[in-house]
Amino acid sequence: MTERTHFFDTKIEFLKGVGPQRAALLNKELNIFTYGDLLQHYPFRHEDRSQFHHINELSELLPGAQIKGRLKDWLITGEGHKKRLVGTFTDGTGILELVWFHGISWFEKSLRKNADYIVYGKPAEFGGRYSITHPDIELLTPENINGGTWQPIYPLTDMLRKRRVDSRTISRMMKSLLEIATPHIRETLPEALITQYRLASKAEALWSIHLPPSQAHLHQATRRLKFEELFYNQLRLIKSKILQKNEFPGQVFDKVELLKEFYDNHLPFELTNAQARVLREIHDDFKTGRQMNRLLQGDVGSGKTIVAFIAMLMALDNGAQACLMAPTEILADQHYQGLKVYAERLGINIGKLTGSTKKKDRRVLHEELQSGAMQILVGTHALIEDAVQFKNLGFCVIDEQHRFGVAQRSRLWAKNEEIHPHIMVMTATPIPRTLAMTLYGDLDISVIDELPAGRKPIKTVHRYDAHRATLFGFLKEEIAKGRQIYIVYPLIEESEKMDLKDLTDGYESISRSFPDVPLSILHGRMKPQDKDYEMARFVKNETKIMVATTVIEVGVNVPNASVMVIENAERFGLAQLHQLRGRVGRGAEQSFCVLMTDFKLSQDTRKRLETMCRTNNGFEISEVDLELRGPGDLTGTQQSGIMDLIIADLAKDGAILKEARKSAEAILDADPDLVTPPYAAIRGHLDSLRASDTNWSRIS
Ligand code: ADP
Ligand code: MG
Repeated sequence: MTERTHFFDTKIEFLKGVGPQRAALLNKELNIFTYGDLLQHYPFRHEDRSQFHHINELSELLPGAQIKGRLKDWLITGEGHKKRLVGTFTDGTGILELVWFHGISWFEKSLRKNADYIVYGKPAEFGGRYSITHPDIELLTPENINGGTWQPIYPLTDMLRKRRVDSRTISRMMKSLLEIATPHIRETLPEALITQYRLASKAEALWSIHLPPSQAHLHQATRRLKFEELFYNQLRLIKSKILQKNEFPGQVFDKVELLKEFYDNHLPFELTNAQARVLREIHDDFKTGRQMNRLLQGDVGSGKTIVAFIAMLMALDNGAQACLMAPTEILADQHYQGLKVYAERLGINIGKLTGSTKKKDRRVLHEELQSGAMQILVGTHALIEDAVQFKNLGFCVIDEQHRFGVAQRSRLWAKNEEIHPHIMVMTATPIPRTLAMTLYGDLDISVIDELPAGRKPIKTVHRYDAHRATLFGFLKEEIAKGRQIYIVYPLIEESEKMDLKDLTDGYESISRSFPDVPLSILHGRMKPQDKDYEMARFVKNETKIMVATTVIEVGVNVPNASVMVIENAERFGLAQLHQLRGRVGRGAEQSFCVLMTDFKLSQDTRKRLETMCRTNNGFEISEVDLELRGPGDLTGTQQSGIMDLIIADLAKDGAILKEARKSAEAILDADPDLVTPPYAAIRGHLDSLRASDTNWSRIS
């Protein structure tokens, strides 16, 4: 082990062909300090250099083309940043222009007229003639005359390019390194997995990813390295989940009285199968004597609240208190009003605490919480303040998880020093399974994947701005039927002023078109009390149209609102569109979502809009979103710290991830501490993995 660690920790400057200057550059630009770092600097794609194209068969559809020919001549043309060197290149079938904007003087000095070269690049056509800008170019030699293999393309920076370090340079370093490193490369996966999944060995994989002899080798190498990465990622997450479970005891909630009373006499509707299943999962956790940390995912309207309430009853039945924390006052109030109805029927004492709770009321609350007289507390993050002390807090529910960090979660834990309360985080932002497995791999996950029966799916349509008159006609009909309407404008921080103008212009045009209809307006620049006032008017049905920015996005419930119009829909991401749409469709009436856009739309935007029109299923939408945007964007800044996968791509590698997770689970099942052979070796590798990911706990 030590020998291995030692070799791969060798400073990169000692590698043949690197030296101190280049080493400094690699340190600074690519964070490559050691042999180990360089080996893990994987190419992000490969170019096919195994075949040649003729100039007369070029097409703009080719991702890249390799051509053998003669550089006849060149000239320098243009001024300022349009200044460029244009070479004339021919292979006997036609003329190709080679264009350089950067490094002109260097190329002028080093290129040779009438010499034979091999060039590679993406062909572009203009006026019947093809050109390649900044082609990869090398002199024709006996070695390269028959073409090469698959050329790896490495992540580089402008500074590196300026200093003439390109993918080829890195390839050469890689070759020197692999030649001396091979005897030191140890297998990191157990033999059984390699056989079971027919994986390439570690050494083979490293050779083939950096110097692929063929496309097949490349494919095998990539698969193996992805598997390894995801395997260790899952191993670590599952292991920390096991650790956490063993470390923290939880209160046992096994008595059921209130729960039974509620089920028998007060349940307002039949639970969906999904709700019942999730409740069983929670109840099973409550019986283990281990502290629960569970994520509850469920689309908007799937009925998470009643699940939370019933789970709270389990706590109350066993002498513990429960709390529910919401991200805003409005939401806290809605939850409070909703739960109070159930609580009163059962004779449960429920309270509400938010930033605007009066001092006098606060004192009473504090006392009742401490004496245990108050059983359920609903509130905003005001309830994590130190002054709020419980007699015996046993269960906390956090609604709309993305607004809360782990810091808050641990402050909730601390509300019961003796024995941490069970925690359930609820989110209405569905995330694809692959992402959930990696992001929340150390939480238990429950999913409500079914809507209550009898819901009418929201009808979603895409309309162009030019058809606004028809839209307004439709809105008038809906208002005449007694419905309410949301009209939402984007609000992106960088252009807040412009957005505000869009919103106010829109508001004016709406007031002109709907002169007799009372309107509300809501945006982020308003004072909190003005916002609450406007929102309250809309909730009470005093206003019919709510013209707003995305501040209404989270959780607000106005069942009488049946139409959601989203202006500039092209500027919203899929997740956000889906969230916004979820504001309607909460009542018995047919609801609609209208996506308004300009005529000119990118392909991605069309895909987003089509997806919205096609389905109401949040999980399906999140899969498309992942595919379009990649995992980094999806998870948001809060979670990006843990997404340090180098080679695996969660958007594409779901199948490999599933196998890797299954393997990790099986191994940890057999040997949770990884102490017996052959698993001790895995543990060694797990421990040696970089500590760059100390923030694995930074979830939710
Ligand atoms: P969300 O998961 O978005 O928080 P809610 O808990 O607010 O959803 O539930 C949305 C609506 O559906 C509420 O009015 C709730 O009373 C109702 N509801 C929840 N579960 C059921 C069910 N099983 N059958 C019928 N209606 C239900
Ligand atoms: Mg909710």
